[in-house]
Amino acid sequence: MEIFIKSNRKCTVDIFKKYDLKKVINASGKMTILGVSKVSDKVAEMQKIAGQNFFEMEDLKIKIGKYIANLLEVEAATVVSSASAGIVQSVAALIGKGDNYHLMHPYTDRIEKREIVIPKGHNVNYGTSVELMIEQGGGIVVEAGYSNQCSAEQVEMQITDNTAALMYIKSHHSVQKSILSVSDMITVSRKYSIPLIVDAAAEEDLNLYYNLGADIVIYSGAKGIEGPSSGLLVGKNPYIQWVQAQSNGIGRSMKIGKDNIFGITVALEEYVKNGTETGESQKNRLNPFVENLNNIKGIKATIVQDGAGRDIFRAKVEIGSDKISAKKIVDLLKTGEVAIYTREYNVNNGIIEFDIRSVNQEEMDIIYKRLKNIMEDCVHE
Ligand SMILES: *Cc1c(COP(=O)(O)O)cnc(C)c1O
Repeated sequence: MEIFIKSNRKCTVDIFKKYDLKKVINASGKMTILGVSKVSDKVAEMQKIAGQNFFEMEDLKIKIGKYIANLLEVEAATVVSSASAGIVQSVAALIGKGDNYHLMHPYTDRIEKREIVIPKGHNVNYGTSVELMIEQGGGIVVEAGYSNQCSAEQVEMQITDNTAALMYIKSHHSVQKSILSVSDMITVSRKYSIPLIVDAAAEEDLNLYYNLGADIVIYSGAKGIEGPSSGLLVGKNPYIQWVQAQSNGIGRSMKIGKDNIFGITVALEEYVKNGTETGESQKNRLNPFVENLNNIKGIKATIVQDGAGRDIFRAKVEIGSDKISAKKIVDLLKTGEVAIYTREYNVNNGIIEFDIRSVNQEEMDIIYKRLKNIMEDCVHE
């Protein structure tokens, strides 16, 4: 089997063979455990050019930030190494507020105002915890409301003289029901003049939360934007400037390379120009796949929209066999000759989801065949 690279050009070195790695079909979405997304040829070429030249890095950081801010029509922007690094450095920035002593001593007890108020249902684990990232930035997590419910009033109740910032996690990982909206959070932020950080890591609209009035909005460069490993922060000054200053403090251990700074910039240019694959297009590609799947005995396949309401559509496969569980199927898919990763969030309810944003036709055929084999095998056992 061939290596799938975005351009459909074939790789000359079989890196899977050389380094004894398994080939992966990623039907799970933009997952960090699989390398998140694939970059385009344009992005890869730019990474190469950047990697083979020198730059005045401080100047590069500022100029690229301005370039991206112009591109996105926002006041300020900056590139960091990941969305997680964005959380850490935003928290540090809003606690230190440009103070030079704090820059080198981010955990100093000279500063008491370091509480970050976050709805309890947003203190989630996305591979690491939001809490740990806040703490790494020197913040003290103050949860508002309950795990399944939080109102604007409950956020306000947690605000004290020591509140440094409010934080909102706009994500499918967060509890969706009975939690105040981003707009509600912005109203609270305005009322108390406390800056608001929105973690929109996997969101696709790069202007929405900024336009609503968030002070710093964080995106993961390799998720929606499909850039290389990086993070993008859009927002207002001086907040973004304070974040940029962190490169000479705790940000150093989260440094992003020149190749990826240019890579994410080109990815953004393409993203702004072309957008991502529309839900409509995903549905068109899903239709024949789902039709095929429905021919497999013991399986019922349908097309469903993303739980967080994004323009993403997936194949939802319900396992109706008493011979094999959804969990077992998911494990078999992962451990075959080619590792097929699916969305497993609902596997306990007998449901497997296939996200096809990074899956091409050839790979969908492989998934279909493998699934068919698994289902047929278990009947004969
Ligand atoms: C993926 C994700 C992150 C982390 O993004 P990285 O760029 O991998 O650090 C942070 N928050 C949420 C809600 C995420 O989904």
